[in-house]
Amino acid sequence: MGILSFIDTQFDTQHIWHPYTSAISPLPCYPVVSASGVKLTLEDGNQVIDGMSSWWATVHGYNHPDLNAAAETQLKKMSHVMFGGITHEPAIELCRKLIDMTPDGLNRVFLADSGSVAVEVSMKMAVQYWACQGNQNKHKFIAPRNGYHGDTFAAMSVSDPTNGMHSLFAPVLNQQLFAPAPQTRFGQAWNEDEMGPLTDMLESHHHEIAAMILEPVVQGAGGMRMYHPQYLRRVRQLCDQYGILLICDEIATGFGRTGKLFACEHANISPDILCLGKALTGGYMTLAATLCNDDVAMGVCQGEPGVFMHGPTYMGNPLACAVANASLSVLQRNEWQSQVQAIEHQLKEELLPCLDADSVADVRVLGAIGVIEMRSPVDVAAVQRFCINRGVWVRPFGKLVYIMPPFIISREELSQITQTLNELVYQATA
Ligand SMILES: *Cc1c(COP(=O)(O)O)cnc(C)c1O
Repeated sequence: MGILSFIDTQFDTQHIWHPYTSAISPLPCYPVVSASGVKLTLEDGNQVIDGMSSWWATVHGYNHPDLNAAAETQLKKMSHVMFGGITHEPAIELCRKLIDMTPDGLNRVFLADSGSVAVEVSMKMAVQYWACQGNQNKHKFIAPRNGYHGDTFAAMSVSDPTNGMHSLFAPVLNQQLFAPAPQTRFGQAWNEDEMGPLTDMLESHHHEIAAMILEPVVQGAGGMRMYHPQYLRRVRQLCDQYGILLICDEIATGFGRTGKLFACEHANISPDILCLGKALTGGYMTLAATLCNDDVAMGVCQGEPGVFMHGPTYMGNPLACAVANASLSVLQRNEWQSQVQAIEHQLKEELLPCLDADSVADVRVLGAIGVIEMRSPVDVAAVQRFCINRGVWVRPFGKLVYIMPPFIISREELSQITQTLNELVYQATA
């Protein structure tokens, strides 16, 4: 194809930003022309199995008939209408579904346009909540290290301060408090000692903390770590004890990925505020949600200004809501449970042997998430080339080669991914 290439990758290289890449020496970009099921079709006709679910989002696979139909039907009614002073059935149905399926008590829904915005909204809610109770001092946040909450400024301020993604912006970010990352791994014996440092920090700083924000049970882009649900249970208790709101960011973990519909369910807790995104629309378009309990909703709107101060232009976009409703209906058929269980089982069987390779420091699996932590940072372009040649799409970062495939992946397709990764870790040793 080369110079006759229909997709002008040269224009792309010269003019278009991609996520986390350089304008000077960009990573190679693979032109994709279509996608169906778990496969992306490249311009040269080759197909690759998407091990990333387009970054946690495409849980039911590409080109899903129900999601397509929902988009087409809604398109012919209205794609968008402002949400200020107007409402519509797709949004009402979606919020009803979200309230029903999320942990108890989360009865109010704010529809946002992306995960990062949902996090900004959650943090604004927490600050406004305390300010409206006449407590202007509680405006800081505490977060465990190794967290990731998005790329906007407030979200950056609570993401891991040193693991690279945002350290450059440290001078302009609000200074937040960071507790040690959760230590006891998922499945290990709980060690209560690890709550000591966090308890001390809350004891000395609770009067200035609005909320604790964390990713329940699985920390995503800040390290792909899977921790003991007891940590989350203890955090819930400590937040209650010290008068601090708890924000759970389930943008990556929500909608079945960890083996529970929401990762909070591993600990049987409800946060005060919950952020959702990524798989909400089954990977079709951008939409996110911030849910809160009645106490937060009422608290935010007491006193001046009496309203919650946020309202995106595309809030409650009907097209996105309609697709989200279709995606949640597919989830509600409950096939995801056996699918995720089967993926977890197979990943344990087929990825854990990678531990034998000298290049591998750790392998961990939870739900439909498999992580290989290498001893040194990987060459992303080289790993991608290696995998593409074997019909597999992955996007490693740092030392982490990880997969979270669509739930509908077949046993054979998943084996193709795990075999490729098994070959890869020995390749890296050489
Ligand atoms: C991806 C992610 C975000 C940010 O979502 P965007 O839609 O990319 O803005 C926030 N929190 C977590 C845990 C995420 O994985």
